[in-house]
Parts: sequence; structure tokens; C-alpha cells
Amino acid sequence: MIPAFFKKLLFSRQFFYDKGKFFLMMKVPGIILPMHAFVSFMNQYSKNDKGASKHAYEVGYTQGKNAGQRYLNISSSSFPTFVEFVKGVAEVMGLGKIHSFKKEGEKIYARINPSIFAEIHKEMFGKSKKPVCNYLSGLAAGLFEPFFKYKLDCVETYCKAKGDPECVFVLTKAK
Ligand SMILES: [Zn+2]
Repeated sequence: MIPAFFKKLLFSRQFFYDKGKFFLMMKVPGIILPMHAFVSFMNQYSKNDKGASKHAYEVGYTQGKNAGQRYLNISSSSFPTFVEFVKGVAEVMGLGKIHSFKKEGEKIYARINPSIFAEIHKEMFGKSKKPVCNYLSGLAAGLFEPFFKYKLDCVETYCKAKGDPECVFVLTKAK
């Protein structure tokens, strides 16, 4: 189910086509790309470049940070509302469903299932030895930076691509 906030966005021209271009949330130009194409790019890239995972994380981080900042520019937010925003981003963008989001002391745990990156990776290339959702890890860390006003690290501790039942991300304050 798509959260009410995003339904409002969807129907208030926050996603729109204009002069042959498609714009994602808050006027970011984008494309609709089949997931298999993205996963294939990433897999080939990581074979040829040992820094591929880190790079995917950093790309996600920058995008998350920008999205979090754009959201906070238009809406003051408590932690629970910001979490709803993050869940909504994941769901509306088709990244997966965050079905649990918990803050325990210094750590935040996000559990994603279904998890499209991991599922398609496993379908195309079989079980992975490492977590594959580096882009999502970076995105999660970046999204929360404007909210907490400090840098975060995110580590994926379980990944469906490895055969785990779900993807689990642990966010902590960066050292
Ligand atoms: Zn994963």
C-alpha cells in the first residue's frame, strides 16, 4: 500500500512527464529502468572494479542526502514522520518494502522484504557471498543525515541475495 503522503505527491504533479522527460519526486529527472538491467550493470561493474560496492554506496548516499534535505525543506519532521517518509520513498520508488524500522540505543535497524535488488540479483546470478544492496545502504545513510545533522554509516548485515530471509540494514553514527 502506498502511504497517504506519497499518494498526495503522486497526484500533485510531483511525478510527471514534460517534453519527453520523466521527473521523479521533487523534480529530479529520471527514467524507468527494468531492474534486471540495473542489476546486470552492477554485477558486471563489480567484477571489473573492486571499488564498485563502495561507489554504489556513495552514489546512494548522495541521492539519499539530497532527497532527505529536499523533504526537510518543505516539511518539519519528527522521527516517526521522517521514518514514514523514508518508508514511503522506498515503496514508491519500487526499492522494496521496509517492514520494520527500529531505533535501539545508538543503532537503527531497517528490515526490507521484499527486496528487489537482492531478489533479482539472486535470480540472475545465484546466491551471492556478500550482501549486494550497497546502493540501498548508502541511500539509507544519506537520507538520515539531514535529519540527524550528522553523518551516518550503514552496514547491510543480512541480504536476501545471500540466502537470508530478508535484508537487514544497521545505521550508526559515523566515527
Ligand atoms: Zn540485500
